[in-house]
Amino acid sequence: MHHAFSIPMSRRDFMKLAGLTAVGAALGGASEQTKAEAGAAPPVPSVDFGEADLPVLYDTDVCVVGGGAAGTAAAVTAARKGAKVILVERGISLGGLATQGCVFPCMATYCYDSDTPYITDLNKRMERQGVPPLLGVDTDTYYGGGRGQYVPEYLSFVYDEMCEEAGVRILYNTSLIGAVIDGERIAACVVQTIEGLAKIQARIFIDGTGDALLSRFAGIPAEKGSEKTGRNQPMSLRFEMGGIDMGKLYHQFIIKGVKERGPFDKLAEDTLRKKGRPFLQFWKWKENEPFFRDGVTRGELTEDDIVYIQAFTITGKPTVMSMNCPEMPALNFSATDAVSFSEAVTFGRKMMRRLAGFFIRNIPGFEKAYIIREASMVGVRESWRIRGKYYMEAEDYLKAHHFPDAVCRTAYPIDIHDVKTEFSAKLKKGQYYEIPYRALVTNEISNLLVAGRCASGSFAAQASFRIQPTCMSMGEAAGIAAAWGLARGVEVNAVRWENIPKSERSYVSEG
Ligand SMILES: Cc1cc2nc3c(=O)[nH]c(=O)nc-3n(C[C@H](O)[C@H](O)[C@H](O)COP(=O)(O)OP(=O)(O)OC[C@H]3O[C@@H](n4cnc5c(N)ncnc54)[C@H](O)[C@@H]3O)c2cc1C
Repeated sequence: MHHAFSIPMSRRDFMKLAGLTAVGAALGGASEQTKAEAGAAPPVPSVDFGEADLPVLYDTDVCVVGGGAAGTAAAVTAARKGAKVILVERGISLGGLATQGCVFPCMATYCYDSDTPYITDLNKRMERQGVPPLLGVDTDTYYGGGRGQYVPEYLSFVYDEMCEEAGVRILYNTSLIGAVIDGERIAACVVQTIEGLAKIQARIFIDGTGDALLSRFAGIPAEKGSEKTGRNQPMSLRFEMGGIDMGKLYHQFIIKGVKERGPFDKLAEDTLRKKGRPFLQFWKWKENEPFFRDGVTRGELTEDDIVYIQAFTITGKPTVMSMNCPEMPALNFSATDAVSFSEAVTFGRKMMRRLAGFFIRNIPGFEKAYIIREASMVGVRESWRIRGKYYMEAEDYLKAHHFPDAVCRTAYPIDIHDVKTEFSAKLKKGQYYEIPYRALVTNEISNLLVAGRCASGSFAAQASFRIQPTCMSMGEAAGIAAAWGLARGVEVNAVRWENIPKSERSYVSEG
């Protein structure tokens, strides 16, 4: 599926209307994007909204755009370190994919001691809400790192609380739509608020949009999709089902499945039997698993529906499961093509209905179940990534590279849903790689930090660093560096993380 994106006016008129800034001057060639061009992504034209006349909504130290795992960590941390912080979020909850996208649970990093102080604090706060981390669950699989049960409704509440305490000003229902560039600096970002257009001036900007949107407005080189296939990772449209009889599900489906089909869900079995923890999951564990394949034969499901099926119980919601599906085929839908992206939503919603109906008809315990929540944000695993001062690659994972300016560690595998074969190698237990501060800053813009899934790296590298705990640690480091640079008059792309005193860093490499 491909469409040409064209602006419905002559290029000349468009240029006239745009009256463009330095970034806009890079418009050439940006009018048509094809998926085959993946790899380098053309810059985004930044339209002149008459910024000179726009009201200045805030003039602040740090402006963070995007309140996902990374952006929220960056905002809270910078504010805790004394900076005045504005956090711009287009939705009405912080958490990004974790809340609006119904992504649950926070994945383990598969390495010890990866939790940076922000994560430890967040986990404690979630525990106070009655949702403890998944500590001790199957230590072979879930050793170290992450494990937070970031239940969407609790997480958005806790994030508000953290921002309030730290003094972060949140601007909800506010979308970034442009940037004012002054030489090598971002002078302001242009936002659409419920009142209309406005600008936010700041000394430092942090891009936590997941889509590198602020960076692309600022002309930072960006890439999208696999360098080989041109495709983005597949998107999902997650949902939750309630009204499930968990006892019946466990005994009549999961345990029966373990006995009849082998240890397909050791985690679930171990969890209940040995640890007594109420955590259950099932997923399609074999390529041609007959239970779901029969659903296709009977016409209840399609081939697309059964490519990826996964469900988790959620502590604090005793009859609810979070569905890590449906997954819309990457071959047909792109996370970096506005029309295709929108078509994926409609397609995904139909898949969701078929899957829910199938579960209700065929899985013991689901007889009285129903959809209680569908994601309000598409589950984008990968879209655009910047090319920063350091460009992370698969080698960094495969060779377990460490860096003096590391901001966090992880051993989460290269998890590509579309093409699995190429990087199936896993680090040995105890090994990990690190993410250098230089992957969060750019050569081109001195007052910009980029954190989260759009940080600097290849398609394969991003497939590992994209999980929530790693995004949070990157955001936390960005917040520390922003406040540090600000206090000393050092541009963030000149900050040397390794020169910040150890006691003030969230992570110190052991070399
Ligand atoms: C289906 C799926 C399942 C996953 N499963 C897991 C899992 O089990 N465990 C795990 O740890 N990770 C999982 N991940 C990965 C993880 O959820 C994400 O990679 C991570 O949350 C990314 O965080 P982020 O802050 O970089 O971006 P996001 O969470 O995408 O946040 C970006 C934020 O920016 C805002 N924003 C975007 N554009 C604008 C704009 N123009 N103006 C204002 N605001 C804007 C968005 O609204 C959003 O709040 C999964 C991802 C997907 C898609």
